[in-house]
Amino acid sequence: MLVRLKDIYTGNTEDMTPSPHDPILVLTADSQVNSLVETLLNPEGFNVKIVNQILEAKKTINEGLPRLVILGEKLPDGSGVAFARELSDLAPTTPILLFVYQESAPIMKQAIQAGVFDTFTLPIRSEDLLQLVRNALAIGDRRRGWMQKETRLATASLRSQMSDLELLGELTRSITSNLDLDAVLSTVMDTAISLTGAEESSLLMLDETTGELYLRASRNFKKDEENGQFRMGIDNTLAGTVVQTGQPVLLDEENLKKIKTDYLVFSLIYVPLKTNNRTVGVLGVDNRNIKKPFTDYHVRLLTAVADFAAIAIENARVFSDTDNERVRLETILTKVQDGVIILDSDNNIRFINQGAREALSLNGTEVANQPARDALRNNQIMDLLEKGGNRAEINLEEGRVMDAQVTPISNVGTVITLHDVSMFKELDRAKSDFVNTVSHDLRTPLTTILGYVELVERVGPVTDLQREYIQHVQMSVHNITNLVNDLLNLGRIEAGVDRHKESVRIDQLIGEACETLKDQLAYKGHRLLVEVPASLPPVWGNPILLAQVVDNLLGNSIKYTPPGGQIIIKAEVDSDQMILQFKDTGVGIPSMDLPFIFDKFYRASNAAGEASGTGLGLAIVKSIVENHYGRIWVDSVISQGSTFNVVLPLNEESKITSLEG
Ligand code: ADP
Repeated sequence: MLVRLKDIYTGNTEDMTPSPHDPILVLTADSQVNSLVETLLNPEGFNVKIVNQILEAKKTINEGLPRLVILGEKLPDGSGVAFARELSDLAPTTPILLFVYQESAPIMKQAIQAGVFDTFTLPIRSEDLLQLVRNALAIGDRRRGWMQKETRLATASLRSQMSDLELLGELTRSITSNLDLDAVLSTVMDTAISLTGAEESSLLMLDETTGELYLRASRNFKKDEENGQFRMGIDNTLAGTVVQTGQPVLLDEENLKKIKTDYLVFSLIYVPLKTNNRTVGVLGVDNRNIKKPFTDYHVRLLTAVADFAAIAIENARVFSDTDNERVRLETILTKVQDGVIILDSDNNIRFINQGAREALSLNGTEVANQPARDALRNNQIMDLLEKGGNRAEINLEEGRVMDAQVTPISNVGTVITLHDVSMFKELDRAKSDFVNTVSHDLRTPLTTILGYVELVERVGPVTDLQREYIQHVQMSVHNITNLVNDLLNLGRIEAGVDRHKESVRIDQLIGEACETLKDQLAYKGHRLLVEVPASLPPVWGNPILLAQVVDNLLGNSIKYTPPGGQIIIKAEVDSDQMILQFKDTGVGIPSMDLPFIFDKFYRASNAAGEASGTGLGLAIVKSIVENHYGRIWVDSVISQGSTFNVVLPLNEESKITSLEG
């Protein structure tokens, strides 16, 4: 078996014993020497390999170490002594014989310095050369034997370190693949024992509240059964010292005796367990029965184990915090009255709470992880989800109405919340019914009152005072009639009675409104500016209702602007929307009133003095605008003026997209 150089360097010495077949390499510049060696050694069973160049010799050596190298003092391509020196580095166990022309003192000295085993010169007797070769081989074998032993020793310690590393590697894998802290700590205990060859291992954790150490995990420990109950203080205890100093301790029988403890162990290591640079526990191993000491190497290994244990404990803490938070959130979501459904990005149900189950009559049905379409069986919700809307009213069984809101959440999916608005709907309906009935029933008597009041003057003369009173009555009846008309209008709009729609020229409506209100404008001395482009396109809507919007908004501007003000009406088109603005220099609206200004019967706190009104005009306007799928809002600064903005979709098509978007 050839021993390869690389095997020596990599410690692979399993079979380094030279075999008789390993070559005896011969390189000289002297063919006489070559053939002498060949004829002498071949019959003895040696494998003689003659080469002619240093390069060739090196190649042979690289393929496998020769048992012996016989070099000439002169080589065809160099000096034998120089190559011998090189060889001593390259193959230190291989003996070298040097053929010299003359055994002079200087050449002998050089040969020795180059690591040559012996020299010979011609003439030489066969048995002398044979003996020389045998001696050289014997020394070569001894060198190899020694090296083999040394390498074995060296690799044994390397191997043991490798297996220690492998154990640590397994521990890391266990930590990263396992979130069960008990299981990980159990592995930690086993690893600590395997790595140190100790009898027992234990893990003491610091109890933050009591400042004591308690046994969290152990292996073969005499207090095994007391896990969790075994506690000790940190003052005057070895483990406590480790906590206080953050430094490991290594004790053997001798120094244990010295510190006169009642430790019934022969040797012991405690290393600190640190998270975020703070000692949170102590990992220990000890030998109780076997008198086997530990070394610093064991301390280092155990420190590595402690670091892993600390990571495991920290992981478990973070996980448990996250898990607790998750459970808490889940409890809140589960208990909350509103329905909550969480869908993943493929619209599969990830979570559904009791509220949603009840609303959608899903109690007793397994819906988790199922596609929403199959599981929820509700077309209105699916429409909302699939058409990308964000809010809709969902009508359920027994007349229940839910306000469903859809919120996309990145990296989660979609959250649907269901809020029961049945009661509000019912209240709203009852209120509208009541208002409608009352106003309807009021109209007839009001007409009658007005009729009779007008008759009073005709049936006989009245005094000036009586005439004044009659005018008051007429005025009040007028106001009440207006109110009733407004109420009836609102009822009709909300009920969606006037559904008829056509192409409406807003510029014309504005013109008509200005004409109708020109007396009021003149009376208050306002300047009116109408900024409407000639090419204003029509909108799709109900002409009577839209006229009412323009009338009401212009009417309010006139009414709530002190005499001599300025009113601007603007209309413009932005992509597929028409934007209308009614801007005045009037009294403005106090900011606290702004949120309620479109509510029925609401009048701002500064309105009463300005003019009479019902507080229904803006509610009507808002209803109409929403009926046309538009939006209305107001910007106002008290004492400076208000701007009412109305946005209407231009045509049927954009109306539909705005509905869905
Ligand atoms: P009304 O005018 O009959 O009171 P509206 O519903 O039309 O009812 O208006 C509600 C309230 O909004 C008014 O009472 C007034 O306080 C305020 N308001 C409406 N338009 C204006 C405006 N252009 N400037 C200032 N306040 C306004």
